[in-house]
Amino acid sequence: MAARGTGWPPRLVFATGNRGKLREVAEILAPAGVTVVGPADVAPDWRVVEDGETFAANARLKAESLARRTGLPALGDDSGLEVAALGGRPGVRSARYAGEHAADAENTARLLRELAGVPDAARVAAFRCALVLAWPDGRSVEAEGRCDGVIARAPRGAGGFGYDPVFVDPASGRTFAELPAEAKNAFSHRRRALDALARALAARPERPRA
Ligand code: IMP
Repeated sequence: MAARGTGWPPRLVFATGNRGKLREVAEILAPAGVTVVGPADVAPDWRVVEDGETFAANARLKAESLARRTGLPALGDDSGLEVAALGGRPGVRSARYAGEHAADAENTARLLRELAGVPDAARVAAFRCALVLAWPDGRSVEAEGRCDGVIARAPRGAGGFGYDPVFVDPASGRTFAELPAEAKNAFSHRRRALDALARALAARPERPRA
């Protein structure tokens, strides 16, 4: 069964321990009739080693391992920030930039320190998001999304998570943490990846059973 005639399964488990990501994906998929649950609801002791070298490889590791573990369709999201002046860092290491269990504020502080002498015009960056939706029988669909912006000189705003307080949307001049959640979710890297995944699901000749 697909949710409301889309290719989405009506219920999926999202392979993340990140509550910010979980909230965003649940909000974005709700209008399509998709119920999103977290690992805590169905497999509380699930863990996976994210040792892939690309966002896509890590998204696949997470999705396939949780689908096998739960018997449910599982969505893996691996995402992060690429800063041109830093050669693409923090990239796949975004969550651990300031250390293995670093807090968001510590990662952001390290980023701002490294960009201290970099002029505004050279502070360009992109959020990237890779998604894989995997079924327990081994089938899967993948997609990616990106969103371009500029790194601020200091954190601003109280919304969002991760690097949102320092990622400026060039169109509004506001950081992602200053934008209302609906505004970020309208054009973020995660939204674009979910839209691309929806198109790929709808285009499948033979839709997997949920
Ligand atoms: P992952 O769980 O390994 O994919 O880690 C992703 C990390 O990238 C997060 O911990 C954040 O630091 C960062 N990140 C990914 N998406 C976003 C976003 O939408 N806003 C802010 N930071 C993000």
